[in-house]
Amino acid sequence: MPTARAYAANSATTPLAAATIPRRDVGPSDVEFDILYCGVCHSDLHAARNQWDAWPTVYPCVPGHEIVGRVTKVGAKATKFKAGDLAAVGCMVDSCGTCASCREGLEQYCDTGGTIFTYNCPDPHKTAPMTYGGYSERIVVKDKFVLRVSEKLNLPAVAPLLCAGITLYSPLKHWGTSPGRKVGIAGLGGLGHMGVKFSHAFGAETVLFTTSESKIEDGKRLGADEVVISKDADQMKKHNRSFDLIVSTVAASHNLDPFISLLKRDGSLVLVGAPEHPHPSPTVFQLLLGRRSLAGSAIGGIPETQEMLDYCAEKNIVSDIEMIPISKINEAYERMLKGDVKYRFVIDMKTLKA
Ligand SMILES: [Zn+2]
Ligand SMILES: [Zn+2]
Repeated sequence: MPTARAYAANSATTPLAAATIPRRDVGPSDVEFDILYCGVCHSDLHAARNQWDAWPTVYPCVPGHEIVGRVTKVGAKATKFKAGDLAAVGCMVDSCGTCASCREGLEQYCDTGGTIFTYNCPDPHKTAPMTYGGYSERIVVKDKFVLRVSEKLNLPAVAPLLCAGITLYSPLKHWGTSPGRKVGIAGLGGLGHMGVKFSHAFGAETVLFTTSESKIEDGKRLGADEVVISKDADQMKKHNRSFDLIVSTVAASHNLDPFISLLKRDGSLVLVGAPEHPHPSPTVFQLLLGRRSLAGSAIGGIPETQEMLDYCAEKNIVSDIEMIPISKINEAYERMLKGDVKYRFVIDMKTLKA
């Protein structure tokens, strides 16, 4: 079996280190590509450190699901791609393909639980016990789950679109973001900064909620019409009952009530951050009196992810990134925990070969 260089966590408490992993031979419907850049998502850190009770980590774990690169080989039936094309893979590499959700192109919600995530998911090909992600020099993926990328955009800054980008694009589209609508984005990190960019690009009145005064200027630069300091009750109160939609990217357990009270009648608070511990239950009366909704959303399906990448190429939207060599990944995790990144780390994968 072919092998590839990678970076892996071998336990919840050891730093990531160089490793060699198997990658399957290219099958008839597969695309193989050299990974040029891989974004660093908060989920990578949760997985590397086994922090989700609902999704325990099997070691070794090779994180990374914001993957872009150049195609090296395609199977006979993988006609969407040819060697030399740019390609990308996000959070999923397969699904059942036949259930109602899969047929609608919502593979992340596969009704049979058949979504195969890019890492730390039992590998249906048995190449290894689990799937291995993008902190690696090469990957082989079924063509249906490989996305096309425009040559027009700055490629390293495209990588975070594959998770952070689609995680915000999809709910903003689903719940309606357009001129005349007032949309809030809570939290200005990897996810939140993409939310502000997309909400602004879709023409909504865009408000950023942050706990940090230091982010006001950046929030406006990224496209927010207004920045509200969410721990300031007076500032929050001014926006009572005024939002059509608030998308919360906050990945720490927090009180949802202050945000729900800002929703209009029929407004929605949509959670996209995945906290280690649950949020306290919101006050039910706040939901009743206003017919408000509390909802969640996970990434986006393959057709919508392609739509987003095409939209970004047309509108010249990418992530704000800081490039790192793979040797700095453990340090990057520590900085991410402190919120010390503007706004996504991206690994330059050629440093894996050096
Ligand atoms: Zn992610
Ligand atoms: Zn399915």
